[in-house]
Amino acid sequence: TGSKHSIAILGSGESGMGALRLAVKQGLSVFLSDGGSIAEAKKAEITALGANFEEGGHSIELIKKYPEVVKSPGIPEKAQIIKDIRAAAIPVISEIEFASRYTSAKIVGITGSNGKTTTTLLTTHLLKSGGLHVESAGNVGNSFCDLLLNATPDVIVLELSSFQLDDIAAFKPDVAILLNVTADHLDRYNYKMANYAAAKFRIFENMTENGLAITNADDAWVFGQVAKLATRQNLFSVQNRIHGGAYFDADHLIFDTEKDIEIIPTDELPLIGKHNYYNQMAAILTAIELGVSFHDIVKGLKTFVNAAHRLEKVAVIEEVTFINDSKATNVDAVFYALDAMNADVIWIAGGVNKGNDYAQIKSLVQTKVKGLVCLGTDNAHLIDEFSTDVEKIEEVQSAEAAIHLAFEWAKSGDIVLLSPACASFDLFKNYEDRGAQFKAATLKLKESQSKTL
Ligand code: ADP
Repeated sequence: TGSKHSIAILGSGESGMGALRLAVKQGLSVFLSDGGSIAEAKKAEITALGANFEEGGHSIELIKKYPEVVKSPGIPEKAQIIKDIRAAAIPVISEIEFASRYTSAKIVGITGSNGKTTTTLLTTHLLKSGGLHVESAGNVGNSFCDLLLNATPDVIVLELSSFQLDDIAAFKPDVAILLNVTADHLDRYNYKMANYAAAKFRIFENMTENGLAITNADDAWVFGQVAKLATRQNLFSVQNRIHGGAYFDADHLIFDTEKDIEIIPTDELPLIGKHNYYNQMAAILTAIELGVSFHDIVKGLKTFVNAAHRLEKVAVIEEVTFINDSKATNVDAVFYALDAMNADVIWIAGGVNKGNDYAQIKSLVQTKVKGLVCLGTDNAHLIDEFSTDVEKIEEVQSAEAAIHLAFEWAKSGDIVLLSPACASFDLFKNYEDRGAQFKAATLKLKESQSKTL
């Protein structure tokens, strides 16, 4: 690939613009093609960098002049332009693949259906605590390409979606974490779990015995495949004792690696919920592998603060606790959220349904949820599924109305939990907007309550 001096880039989003900047910096001549319109500021930047572009459609004739194409993860394989590029036998790579050519940093790659961001941030934090020069990128924060423009860390922790892994070629992390494989985004994989799981497993495809795979022994999709990997392995489990990995045992996490045996009481962990045992075990195993002392790991755990919208405690109003889990956009995430609740729950859910199967959470809802506030434009699926399982069920159309209704239903000691199991695009811009509106409405309620006292 060193002989290639030009590249075409599809899409002017985060990863497309990142790839463009890095390609220009590396001296490649660049053509960017966007199927929609490109923002004025971006056009000005592209021109200033000396690159060419087209918008409002992709021209295969122009793209064909380039020896390689970087594809944004948002463009599906079934898009006509991708079919045309494949037919012309031009290699298509992801932005991750492209960036990986231009760094010699140690790479930690993190993928899975749920827990990627949490694990990426915690891993980065623990490595920093150990004094390593480390940065994170990928799905969280900067794109990988953008990171390389102005930083030369020793370790890069990458959050990788299955879409970003779809078009890797030689990309090879030094440590790769696969957290879990549960149903999500099946629309992009012909509704076949096996296809989606295969995309996740691509994270390991170029790794050798020098690398380390850190994987979930409790996940049937993961465990069924890992024996075939060429790498060294650390498994982690909440259900079984693992020699050569990490496991949960009677209120402790045990780390039983080649290096040592170490123990952390779970009440010293920064994150609640069983799902976070998995995330924390994976992050800690990575820190151990990269030489961080246990003393520094424990020190790091004490100061970690997770990203917003993930089981984020917002406020307590008259002994009712409000928790924002807006990032829970699939059923598995809601399973772990409900599992982590230790009181009666008023559950706020709904939005754009991605073909949800609620069987997994049925009994948790029956035992923990008193009331269900449906926050979506179409709530038929939720109402059908749960109207006989909860005492109260009602529909609302705004975060503020949801908060007011939930507070009206709640008794002291209850938890109001926003954990939607759905995407947010019907009523909100995105999950951040949904979470922010939930928080704002909660804080407004808190203020009005304190005034009336
Ligand atoms: P991702 O980046 O993969 O979307 P996040 O860390 O942002 O993962 O968490 C997304 C949602 O999934 C949150 O609601 C969170 O509470 C839940 N979650 C986090 N880790 C896990 C896990 N290991 N298994 C299941 N659900 C999880």
